[in-house]
Amino acid sequence: MADHVRSDAGAASRRRFMQQAGAGSAAVAAATLGLAAQDAEAAPAFDASYDVVVCGSGCGGLASALFARWQGNSAVILEKAGSIGGTTAKAAFWYWVPNNEAMKKAGIADPKPDFLKYVARLSSPQTYDPAHPRLGLTPWEYDMCSAFYDSASPAAELLAAKGALPYRHVADVPDYFAELPEDKAPKGRVLVPKDAIPSMSDGGLVAVRTMSTKARQDGIPIRTGIRVTKVLQDKSGRVIGVEAKDELDATVRLRARKAVIFATGGFTHNAELRKNFLNGPIYGGCAAPSNEGDFVQIAGPLGAQLRNMNYAWTCPIPLEKAIAKDGSISGMFSVAGDSMLFVNKYGQRNVNEKLQYNELAQTFFEWDGAKAEYPNLVRIAVWDQRSQQHSASAEYGRLIVPPGTDDRHVIKGATLAELARAIDERLAKYASATGGAKLALDFLPNLQAAIARFNQLAKTGKDLDFQRGERIVEQLFNGDVKAEPGRSNATMWPLADAGPYYAALVVAGTLDTKGGPKTDTHGRVLDGADRPIPGLYGVGNCVASASGRAYWAGGATLGPIIAFAYRAANAAHAEGRSAT
Ligand SMILES: Cc1cc2nc3c(=O)[nH]c(=O)nc-3n(C[C@H](O)[C@H](O)[C@H](O)COP(=O)(O)OP(=O)(O)OC[C@H]3O[C@@H](n4cnc5c(N)ncnc54)[C@H](O)[C@@H]3O)c2cc1C
Repeated sequence: MADHVRSDAGAASRRRFMQQAGAGSAAVAAATLGLAAQDAEAAPAFDASYDVVVCGSGCGGLASALFARWQGNSAVILEKAGSIGGTTAKAAFWYWVPNNEAMKKAGIADPKPDFLKYVARLSSPQTYDPAHPRLGLTPWEYDMCSAFYDSASPAAELLAAKGALPYRHVADVPDYFAELPEDKAPKGRVLVPKDAIPSMSDGGLVAVRTMSTKARQDGIPIRTGIRVTKVLQDKSGRVIGVEAKDELDATVRLRARKAVIFATGGFTHNAELRKNFLNGPIYGGCAAPSNEGDFVQIAGPLGAQLRNMNYAWTCPIPLEKAIAKDGSISGMFSVAGDSMLFVNKYGQRNVNEKLQYNELAQTFFEWDGAKAEYPNLVRIAVWDQRSQQHSASAEYGRLIVPPGTDDRHVIKGATLAELARAIDERLAKYASATGGAKLALDFLPNLQAAIARFNQLAKTGKDLDFQRGERIVEQLFNGDVKAEPGRSNATMWPLADAGPYYAALVVAGTLDTKGGPKTDTHGRVLDGADRPIPGLYGVGNCVASASGRAYWAGGATLGPIIAFAYRAANAAHAEGRSAT
């Protein structure tokens, strides 16, 4: 009886899978492309069979499936969430492509040796040596960076040529460390989806739309509500498929004749992995809520080697939205406002608020060994009516938002004293998430002194304390400010002597993490002895990024993802089909 019930449930889940996977349309497309029809019924232990099974429907998954398909393979994309796109759908989708075709047309040289020096200098500053044959990188780091340089542009060109991701060149965006002497091509490497709006805030949506449309046209079924839970291996250890749970928690088994490619994002939303592996107290972040580090758990039993688990693409985020696990949360790429400053719970200003977001977030982890505390665990952004009026935007993680939008994170006070009281009350509400952080007794006089000092510096336009606004990228991320003809520092202006004043609680978060199973330059997941686990691939934030601690430039997550999707799909294509 029990067996009968199970087999009925299995048949139902198989039917559901085949219907929702659009197996019919895949077969039509397969015929159009001259492929054999899918042999879903040929392997009774599996619900369906494909050459390549791709897990995750963000950029890594969509691009891997497309590249594999264009080589003539059948492919399917399995997505855990109820909708497609993952974190990618939230991105601005700048993609950083060294030596891209648009640069070549514009006459911007980007030689590989110089490019590698720039990335090596940032990713491993403690070992960087321009005279060393690998610039001080490990062989793995060097080879991965080299492979990225070689493949990013061919991958981007192929996606564009096929109509999956037409782009436009943003020639004037600087790299995040454009001033470094190692950066010989400080502008020109950034591409964005062609139809993204001028602010580019919808770039990810556009990219997911164009790539998924192309995937469907080319016969790649995309199944949502399918959470891959396990990799299946044959007796020799070769990966031959995956097991997954569908939306009704029924088990689905899919055969992969050539390869399984994971592109399931990082572990931002797995509190235990965050606490065990990240190098500081990170309060979740902006990744898709379904990014819970599944691949770390799945690849572990297969002997996969983990790398760079301590790194993430970090950014400041509003505390309240992080605690609420608000799926719409976005990183503060631009800490907006000129009459705005950050102080800690002591009322001290101790950071350049316009530091590029990855660097700014990491200053929240500073540990005070004498007091045994993170003094900057929660920072408090304070701004006045001028910044409220001129720098409010509902786009992209701004703290300063316009009236009528969700401003639950904003704390208000008619005077600084009233503001301080309101901040204390708000902190008390979140005490259980901050180890009981509260304002110091002398917070108010310290805040007043910090504002007086900031105003003095802002009047001269020179931040002698923290050099705010001096780097090129800080001006890029300044957000909108009131025009003041003739002023020398667009990022600073004195706060008004009278209220109203505004504040918000800010903590460190991620766009997503960037550690996971180590892969080789072809996206093959490696075991503890650096041997590929046959048939298992990983791309994107679910695997280790050789960038280490660095965030090289805007687009430095998606550029490599596209390059490694291309390389992984090419290697997967070259695999022989496993026997049934
Ligand atoms: C607001 C914002 C703006 C950004 N802007 C940029 C930018 O301009 N340029 C840039 O380079 N980067 C940007 N990023 C970062 C970038 O979006 C990510 O690094 C990138 O999209 C990650 O792609 P991915 O394919 O690795 O993962 P994701 O896009 O996160 O996709 C992973 C998918 O896997 C699915 N999944 C998880 N587990 C399973 C499972 N077990 N089975 C099946 N499916 C599973 C998830 O549901 C998800 O859909 C931004 C991020 C944010 C939040």
